Amino acid sequence: MSKRSTPRQSLRTRYQKSGSTKINQPQQEQKLLQPVFEKACDAIAVTDDHGCLIEANAAACQLFGLSHQALIGRILADFTDGEFNFAQVRLSVQTNSQQTGELYLLRPDGNHREVEYSLTLDVVPHRHLVILRDITERKEAAQDELWCQRQWVELFSEVTLKIRQSLQLKEILRATVTEVQRILQADRVLIYQVFPNGTGKAISEAVLPEYPAILDLEFPEEVFPQEYQQLYAQGRVRAIADVHDPDVGLADCLIEFIDQFDIKAKLIVPIVQNLNSHQQSESKSENQLWGLLIAHHCDRPRRWVDFELELMQQLADQISIALAQAQLLENLEEVVEIRTAELKDVNRDLHQEINDRMQAEAALRRSEEQLRLITNALPVLIAYVDKEQRYRFNNQAYEDWLGQTPAAIHGCHLKEVWGEDCYQRMHNYVEAALSGHVVTYENEIVLRDGISRSVNVTYIPHVDEQKTVKGFFSLASDISDRKAIERMKDEFISVVSHELRTPLTSLHSALKILATGRLGTLSLDGQQMLAIADENTERLVRLVNNVLDLQRIESGKFTMEKQACNAADLMIQATEAMQPMAQQHGVTLATKPINIQIWVDSDYIVQALTNLLSNAIKFSSPGGTVSLKVECLQQSQVLFCVHDEGQGIPQSKLESIFERFQQVDSSDSRKKGGTGLGLAICRKIIEQHEGKIWAESTLGKGSTFCFTLPVLHG
Ligand code: ADP
Repeated sequence: MSKRSTPRQSLRTRYQKSGSTKINQPQQEQKLLQPVFEKACDAIAVTDDHGCLIEANAAACQLFGLSHQALIGRILADFTDGEFNFAQVRLSVQTNSQQTGELYLLRPDGNHREVEYSLTLDVVPHRHLVILRDITERKEAAQDELWCQRQWVELFSEVTLKIRQSLQLKEILRATVTEVQRILQADRVLIYQVFPNGTGKAISEAVLPEYPAILDLEFPEEVFPQEYQQLYAQGRVRAIADVHDPDVGLADCLIEFIDQFDIKAKLIVPIVQNLNSHQQSESKSENQLWGLLIAHHCDRPRRWVDFELELMQQLADQISIALAQAQLLENLEEVVEIRTAELKDVNRDLHQEINDRMQAEAALRRSEEQLRLITNALPVLIAYVDKEQRYRFNNQAYEDWLGQTPAAIHGCHLKEVWGEDCYQRMHNYVEAALSGHVVTYENEIVLRDGISRSVNVTYIPHVDEQKTVKGFFSLASDISDRKAIERMKDEFISVVSHELRTPLTSLHSALKILATGRLGTLSLDGQQMLAIADENTERLVRLVNNVLDLQRIESGKFTMEKQACNAADLMIQATEAMQPMAQQHGVTLATKPINIQIWVDSDYIVQALTNLLSNAIKFSSPGGTVSLKVECLQQSQVLFCVHDEGQGIPQSKLESIFERFQQVDSSDSRKKGGTGLGLAICRKIIEQHEGKIWAESTLGKGSTFCFTLPVLHG
C-alpha cells in the first residue's frame, strides 16, 4: 500500500480527530481534499452510529435546505420520514461495505427531493460516509417522458381514430400532418406523394410560420431517385439527426437543395400500399411506394427517438389503410356513379316508355270511345264473340233491342243471351265462323217487347298471325221491313202471276190453234208475227211458272215428298228432257249415270238438274259439250256436277247469280230467253234437301254448277 493517504483515509483522519482520536497527517493532503469535499456536486455527509450528521459539505446543506450549522447534529432518518433507519442499516451492512439506494428527502421548508445515496459504513470506526445525489430533476424528466409517451399514445389513438373516421383522403392527410407536427414538436411535417414517373409533390403540410412552405411544390426525379424509391418500398425508414453530418453521406447537391427549406434534421417513413391486399388470392402480395411521411426539424439538428420513429411508422401504416379505403370508396363511388347513370338511363327510358304507353293508352281510349260512339250510333247489333262463344264486346243496340246493357252481356255465352231455340238456329253458323269462314245467314229473333224480327247476320272470323281463330265479329241488321216488302212484292207477283196464268194459257192455246192454220191461212208476215207472239207468250208462261214455283217453294206452304231414288234415273230423266234443246243448240249432252240411292223429292231434283242443263246448253257455243256427273262424297253426301265449255261467269258474279232476277248480263234474258229465276229456284230446292249449291267458272273456258244431296243409308 502506498504511503500516500487516499481521500477516504484523509477523511477518516479528519473525523478520527473530531471524534477525539488524534492522528497526525500531512497538511498538504488535507489541503488537497478539502476543496474537493467542499466543492463536490454531490452532497457528502458524515454520520455517527445513530445517523446523526457530524459533517456535511455545501452541496449537502443545499440539498437539505439548511445551513451548515442547522444541519450538523440532525438525525438523517428525520429527513426520510423514518424510512432510513440507521440502526437497521448497520445490522444489515458489513463494516466498510457500501450500500446504495434511493431516498425520498423531506426538507424542513416543506419541499422534497429524490436522492440516490451511497452509504459506506465505518470509513473510520463509528464514522460513516453518506454521499447523496439529487436526482429529483432526472426523475421528474423520466416521469415527464413517461407522461409524454402516454400522451403520445393517446394522441396516436386519437389521430388514428380521426384518420379512420374520415373518408376524405385530403382531410385524413391534413389531420395527420397537423397531429404529427403537434406531437413530435417538429417544425415541418409533410406528406410527399411519389408519382409513377419518379417525380413527386408535397400534397399536405403542417409547417411553422417562420419556415418556408413546401406544399404543392413538385420535385424532379433527381431529388428522389429510383433506387431510393425501391428501398422505401421495402419499408426503409430514415432518421437523420443532422443533414450536414458528413457521416450521413448526403450528396452536396441534395444538401444544397434541402438547405433552401432550412432542414436540419429529418425523419422519413414510407407510405406503402399492398397492391394485392384486397384480393383473396394466395399470390404473392406486391408493395408499392405511394409516398412518404416526412418530419423536418429546422432550427437545429435533432436526434429522433425510437418512439418518434415508431409513431411515424404507425401513422404511415394508418395512411396506407386510409388510402386503400379511399380507393375503395373512389371505386365504390365510381361504381355508384356508373350505376346511377345507368339507372338514370333506365329511368328515362322507363319514363319515356310510360309516357309512350300513356299516350298510346289515351289514343286507344280515344279510338275506343270513337269506336263505341260509332258502333253505338249504328242501328245494327255489333259484337265480338270469343272462341268460347262468349261476348267480349257489344254495342248499345243490344240494350235497345234486347234490354240488356253491354256490361250485363259482356262475358255471357251466346245461348244465355239468345235462348235455346234461337241458339239452335245460329249454332251451325257460329261453328262455321269459328272454323274460319265468313258466314251470312238470316235468323228470326225476339226483341225485348216480344216482337219477332228478321235479321241478317254476318260472322267474320278473327284470325291472328298464327292463323288461329280467336273469335268472330258479329253484325246483325234488322231486315224485317225489307222482308215485309219482299213478301208484299212476292205476294203481288204471285197474285199477278196467278191472274196472268189463266189468260196467258188461253192466249197461248189460241196462238197455237192459229198457228195450225185451221182457222185460215195467214200471210207469210202474219205467220212470222204469230211465231214471235207465240215465242214471247211461251217466255211469259215460263216466267209466270217460275215465279209461282219459287213463291211456292219459298212460302214453305208445301212439303217436299222425299223418297228413295236412284241418282242415275234422275240424271237420265233430266238429260232426256234436255236432249231436244241440246240438239237445237248443236251441243253434245254427255252423262255418266251412277246408281246411288238418295232421299229426295225426285220431281224437284229433276227440275233443278234440267234448269242447270238448260243454262249450260244456253251458254255453250255450238259444238260444245255439256256433261252431267255424279259422285259419292265423304260425310254421306252425293255430288252432282253440270259442266259446260261455254263463256264462263266472272268470279264476282258466282254468288249473286243465285239471287232472284240476277244475271251476268242484263241482256241475257232477252238474248237467251231466261227469266233470272232458274238458279234461285235451284238453290231453294237444294236447300230444302239440306244440300248446298255453288258455281265454279273460268271466263272463256266454261262453268261447273255443283250441288250436294244426302245419301240414303241402309
Ligand atoms: P236465266 O233464266 O236467266 O238463265 P238463271 O237464274 O238460271 O236465269 O241464271 C242466272 C244467270 O246466270 C243467267 O242469266 C246467266 O247470266 C248466268 N248463268 C247461269 N248459268 C250459266 C252458265 N252455264 N254459263 C254462263 N252463265 C250462266
